[in-house]
Amino acid sequence: STMRASFPPLSRGARTLASEAGRRSYDAVVCGAGIAGVSCAHYLARSGASVLLVDSRPPLSHTSSLSTECYRNFFPGSVPLTAFMQRSVDLLEARAAECDNAFGLNRRGYWFLSASEEGAAQHALALSDPGLASCGGVSHFSDASHGLRYRHDAPTGAAAAAAAGGGGGGGGDGPAAMLFSGREAVQAYVGSLPPFLAADASSLLVASRAGWMSAQQMGMELLSKARDAGAATLIPSSLQGVRTASDGQVEAALLSVPGESEPLEVRTGAVVNAAGPYAGVVDALLRGGGGEGGGGRELPLQNEVHAKAVLRDDLSAVPGDAPMVVWTDPVTLPWSEEEAEALLEIGGFEASLAGSLPGGFHLRPYPGKPHSLLMLWEAIHADVAVPREPPEEAELRGSLFAELTLRALSRAVPALGGYLGEDGSMTANVSVDGGYYSKAPDNLPLIGPAAGGPRGAYMCAGLSGYGIMAANAAGELLAKHVTGAPLPEAYAAGFLPERWESEEYRRGVESGAVGKGFQI
Ligand SMILES: Cc1cc2nc3c(=O)[nH]c(=O)nc-3n(C[C@H](O)[C@H](O)[C@H](O)COP(=O)(O)OP(=O)(O)OC[C@H]3O[C@@H](n4cnc5c(N)ncnc54)[C@H](O)[C@@H]3O)c2cc1C
Repeated sequence: STMRASFPPLSRGARTLASEAGRRSYDAVVCGAGIAGVSCAHYLARSGASVLLVDSRPPLSHTSSLSTECYRNFFPGSVPLTAFMQRSVDLLEARAAECDNAFGLNRRGYWFLSASEEGAAQHALALSDPGLASCGGVSHFSDASHGLRYRHDAPTGAAAAAAAGGGGGGGGDGPAAMLFSGREAVQAYVGSLPPFLAADASSLLVASRAGWMSAQQMGMELLSKARDAGAATLIPSSLQGVRTASDGQVEAALLSVPGESEPLEVRTGAVVNAAGPYAGVVDALLRGGGGEGGGGRELPLQNEVHAKAVLRDDLSAVPGDAPMVVWTDPVTLPWSEEEAEALLEIGGFEASLAGSLPGGFHLRPYPGKPHSLLMLWEAIHADVAVPREPPEEAELRGSLFAELTLRALSRAVPALGGYLGEDGSMTANVSVDGGYYSKAPDNLPLIGPAAGGPRGAYMCAGLSGYGIMAANAAGELLAKHVTGAPLPEAYAAGFLPERWESEEYRRGVESGAVGKGFQI
């Protein structure tokens, strides 16, 4: 349109942009330029809506710059989350095909490993999971005759997805997962890599449609295509609230722009809260904007601290073409008797370290030179409380996190023990960073009209530990809500923020009657 063509390029400076933004109107203003907001802007612009994307920080610089950049369609225990991720991976592959895979999407898979009977039984639950059944099912092998070998260069199916228009299906190839039971079956599959895993691993569940990418480049790709389709950005600026008409409909977004004493009013009928860990704060701002349902109940959004460590793998403990490896058995760290007693005496978090700790620690090769590994373990921060408006920098317990994660991971990859000195000290070169998983108690996202807010207030938040992999389907779903397009039946209703207005739903989640999405 002529309006889009006359919108000034970024280089004219923020002041000019701000005055332009204040003079015209937009179909939607998206608050937050993390991966969620960028994807909302992308799919809104793609569907023909005019969009202004605002953030007080540079695009993709907050939580979205801190992730492990992994994806999977594997969410046993939640049919809607599985369908949603399946769609998101379809879209990821279609976006990769559009840019000659500039964001390096691979399909190395996730390996869930166990050396215990309980772990094997847990893995076997995948065989009867209804969500996985609907996207290719799980193949089961219990001896070495299967003839399947791990491939680090498995095709992503980008071409197949593009040919199919990016819609539906199982990505066109094979089962959602493979279960190898018994050491022979496991060894036959992993034998194409140099040995690096604990030899007693006796159950291997492979999530096939999984891998990683450069999340920054994926986000930049979505943002640049959004700009091509006419989306504008006003950065830095932050959403302060909305103005509503007497009938409770959003009329304008109120933005604070650096150097301006008065808030800038941008005319729009829709405001999207994609504020990541600040979504709870922004939700309260939007409710303050009045409207018929003004008020309502506070969203049960919580921020959890999660960290990752990057270790320089000078010992080549893990081959560079390995997949994502997740050890699912609980682990007891090898404390001396004295150390264990000392921990128990301290009490609280420290005491918990002396006992059996939940499994789920994972690692994968990290691209680049020198050869590095990325390591994660949820257990170290499980007890850290975060206020509703979280501090900019999360409390990471960095050196403790690195050392304990390394100790735990040496259960799965014995050669990592080479980085632990005889006195227990860590001899590795490790850096730690991290941020927040912003999540609802059911671990499902919040996408759709903001419950209790004015009409025209939407949200795309609560993306927990899966916001990178979910971003495309989340942005697409949000755009459908805003533009009034038909919604996907498999998951749209289950993700509506208004579910938390129901006392029955809240109680169901508390009692465990509502299935939670799988977290790793
Ligand atoms: C250690 C770790 C590992 C992870 N690993 C993975 C992984 O492997 N795969 C995966 O899929 N996900 C992973 N995640 C999760 C993923 O990183 C998040 O779900 C995702 O980045 C959330 O994106 P977002 O856009 O919602 O939030 P953010 O990236 O935090 O963006 C929110 C933006 O909103 C802006 N904002 C806030 N308030 C305002 C306001 N009032 N006005 C304007 N702007 C505002 C902020 O400045 C910020 O830029 C991981 C997360 C962590 C912490």
